[in-house]
Amino acid sequence: MGLPVKSKYPPGLIVSNGKKYAIGGQQWIEVPMNTTLETVSQYLVYERPVRTVEIFSVKGSRGNIYEVRHNLENDAWFCTCPGARFHGKHCKHIKGTISAKPI
Ligand SMILES: [Zn+2]
Repeated sequence: MGLPVKSKYPPGLIVSNGKKYAIGGQQWIEVPMNTTLETVSQYLVYERPVRTVEIFSVKGSRGNIYEVRHNLENDAWFCTCPGARFHGKHCKHIKGTISAKPI
């Protein structure tokens, strides 16, 4: 793993079990104890996603095409199908898109 590691989230620092880690999203990188938020960029750099919204076209069960949008900034999902708007939660198109996504 090359340094610095790129993170989609602004890095934070945490001390755990006598070791210091730079954290960006789900990534934990061990750093020297004297690392500060000013010097953490040697190990972990915040790289704002170029695309902030991903758009997927999903075919519904009746052949309709719905647009599923994923906001990368706040990890919010949106679907244009009536069900998603009505229930206000993840419809099957969003769930299907999430499960098909490589992590
Ligand atoms: Zn939907």
